[in-house]
Parts: sequence; structure tokens; C-alpha cells
Amino acid sequence: MPTRSPRKSASAARLQRENTHDEIYERIYVAILEHRLHPGTKLVEERLAEIFNVSRARVREVLARLAHEQIVEIYPQRGAFVAKPSIEQALDVFEARRLIEPAVLRRLIETLTPEKLARLRQHQELELDARRRDDKRAVIRLSGEFHSLAAELAGNSALARQMRELSTLTCLMIFLYDAPTATSCRADEHSQIIEAIARRDTVRAEKLMLEHLAHIESGMKLEPAAEEVDLEAIFRS
Ligand SMILES: [Zn+2]
Repeated sequence: MPTRSPRKSASAARLQRENTHDEIYERIYVAILEHRLHPGTKLVEERLAEIFNVSRARVREVLARLAHEQIVEIYPQRGAFVAKPSIEQALDVFEARRLIEPAVLRRLIETLTPEKLARLRQHQELELDARRRDDKRAVIRLSGEFHSLAAELAGNSALARQMRELSTLTCLMIFLYDAPTATSCRADEHSQIIEAIARRDTVRAEKLMLEHLAHIESGMKLEPAAEEVDLEAIFRS
């Protein structure tokens, strides 16, 4: 019986390692996106290593990758925490999205194919289905992923990476700063954007996207707290 060549088993081992890294990454990432892991939660290396049955070194690699994407914050001596974007960072995220997302749509429309349009519509179906089932976690995740998918389909890997990071940070911000009445993305707005893309109407698609971002932003409470609160006004009414 032939023995496995060392080369083959080495590459198989590497594949196994990469799969595990990606799998752990994906599971933590999705848990953050779905608000099962809240902003500020401590990610204890030792416990994650036990849960995923891997070494602490492997967990550290995954946390470093999440930290590189700004989804996790690592403090020396204290460990890793799910990021907790400040109001200033949140305002920066929206400013960046207003600059990037119209560019994403322009590029997507320029390079549009029936396959790309089908991918967008499939994603929209998943989102509508999650809304019908009232699966709030899936709705938050899928509505964020709509924006990352558009960037991925636009075909610029740098924009896609940036968009993935910005939409994940937006998910964290929705958790931290959501006004009680707000929802994440409105489903009908995604549908309208997809229809503008389908008609290759760049001007309308960009306009709808900027309005959509304004709606998400206005659904959050991002006014900095006043330095001096008028206590009298608060308690005397
Ligand atoms: Zn949206």
C-alpha cells in the first residue's frame, strides 16, 4: 500500500489549518454581525480555544485578523474586546460610506451582467424572507451584507474590503446607537436601488443610496452628549 507523500500530507495539514482559521473567523464575525456578541464583550482567548478545540495561538491569529479589520480591539494586558465605535468614529464611518458607496454603484453599473443582477436579487429574496419570518438577527446581518455584496460585485477588491469593514462597523453602531424606533436598512430601499441598477440609471442609484445612508444615520442617536447638562430643566418639568 503506497504511503502518502510527505508533501501531500503537509499541504493537507495546511489546508486543514486554513479552514479552521476561516471557520473560527466566520463564526465570530457572524455572531458580531447578528448582535449575539455585543460591542465591548471580552473575547477570552482561552475559552474560545476550548470552544473551537484549537490552540490559543490559532485563536490569537483570528483575533488579530478581526482587529486588523477594526471589528475587534486588542489592549495589551487586558485582551481582546468586540469593538465599541465612539460617536466620532460612527460619524466617520458614515462620511466614508457617503464617499465610497456611490462609487461602488457607478462601477457596478458599468460592469453589470445578468449574473451580477441575479446575485443581487437572490440576496434581496433572502432579506425579504428573513423579514417575513421576523428573524431580526438575520435581517441585520443580511441588510449589512447587501452593501458588501454590491461592492464585491463591482469588482474592485480594495473597495470591497473597505465596504465589508464599514458595514460591519455600522452593525456595531446600530446596536450601540439605535434609536428605539429605528430599523437597520429599509427593505424597500434596497429593492429600489436594485431596480435603478437594473435600469443602469447611475444618477438615480447614487441618489437613492445617499438617501438610504441618511435614513440609517438619522435612525441613530449620534449627537454628542452635552458637556454640561441642564439638570434643572430635566427635573423641573
Ligand atoms: Zn442598506
